[in-house]
Amino acid sequence: MTCLHDRHINPLILADLDGSNWHLADYVKRGGYEALKRILNEKITPEQVIAELKASSLRGRGGAGFPTGLKWSFMPRQFPGQKYLVCNTDEGEPGTFKDRDIIRYNPHALIEGMAIGAYAMGITVGYNYIHGEVWAEYDRFEQALEEARAAGFLGDRIMGSDFNFQLHAFHGYGAYICGEETALLESLEGKKGQPRFKPPFPASYGLYGKPTTINNTETFAAVPFVMRMGGEAYAALGKPNNGGTKIFSMSGDVAKPGNYEVPLGTPFAKLLELAGGMRDGKKIKAVIPGGSSMPVLTGDVMMATDMDYDSIAKAGSMLGSGAVIVMDETRCMVKSLLRLSYFYFEESCGQCTPCREGTGWLYRMVHRIEHGQGREDDLDMLNSIADNIQGRTICALGDAAAMPVRAMIKNFREEFEHHIKHKRCIVPAYV
Ligand code: SF4
Repeated sequence: MTCLHDRHINPLILADLDGSNWHLADYVKRGGYEALKRILNEKITPEQVIAELKASSLRGRGGAGFPTGLKWSFMPRQFPGQKYLVCNTDEGEPGTFKDRDIIRYNPHALIEGMAIGAYAMGITVGYNYIHGEVWAEYDRFEQALEEARAAGFLGDRIMGSDFNFQLHAFHGYGAYICGEETALLESLEGKKGQPRFKPPFPASYGLYGKPTTINNTETFAAVPFVMRMGGEAYAALGKPNNGGTKIFSMSGDVAKPGNYEVPLGTPFAKLLELAGGMRDGKKIKAVIPGGSSMPVLTGDVMMATDMDYDSIAKAGSMLGSGAVIVMDETRCMVKSLLRLSYFYFEESCGQCTPCREGTGWLYRMVHRIEHGQGREDDLDMLNSIADNIQGRTICALGDAAAMPVRAMIKNFREEFEHHIKHKRCIVPAYV
């Protein structure tokens, strides 16, 4: 049994979980479904729910960090016809593994959060799109749905009210691009998972062309806690504009990799300490703070930075999904970039030319540098290709492929130059 207790500071979503207490009865003992009950019993209006979300400064936990209350207010509640609520559990970015733990350890927090969202936006049907390579957690979520339906927390006339909400799980196909919200919708409709042109945005033209709100798993799972403790109290856990707690997936060269829930604004140095520090006492060299698509930062910069959206942006990267990849002094940055470039090359859906062709160029150029065949002008060429991809594609995968390249060359240029000039690695372990 996995004990998760010592991993966190002021945890909410991951509090008091031991791997076996995920059932509805356990969740209810922890105060679960109280928020939904109170909303329905006290007839709290949808506008009040959204106001509470706005006061909490809860921001989307999937990567974009968009304010959740504001997003929910975009839903045209009076739209005459079906509207949809969709949860994005299609996490597939290297380094990201928090959402699968939420549906594994605390699935009812997500279900309650989605039910509250459905109530606030006047929606009666929802889907949770779960990454296709995740099997045990998908089954776990299905079991939790059954429990919630049997207890009357989902379905028609929930808890005797006139609120109806049907929630279904959908098992995706394992493609990284289906985590992009419009590709996810295409996939959910049974089509090839390729991003749509935006606008129109899903709030007006989403699933089956109907108004749709999509949020990340962690975002929905935080909602019951916002409603239970009140928006302002939730916000006060973090920093201004960065409310509440956040789950960070710590991976790479740390002693205790795993998920850690801490208040936003916690210093990175503290988070690293929770994760047991650097493995084997090695020196920290680099950190990708928000999933592999985010710009890499040097270890020194990260050790002086707090873990919140604004602080990480100020340091030159993005908090993204909160997947923190830590690299020690023995890591070769060229080899690391080679792995990342291959991933984006493989996962490009091929729909637009700069991404389809450019990701292949990036990969092949980094490959030749790594294998001792780099040319003098390769670094300028890499930057130029990245420039011609970034901001010129249908979806953000193009940016995701370009940003790591630019940041790696900017922060670790001497390693790339050494590879080109000496045809071997600068890092002693690789010599
Ligand atoms: Fe597909 Fe890449 Fe274009 Fe996104 S940027 S639509 S992944 S080709």
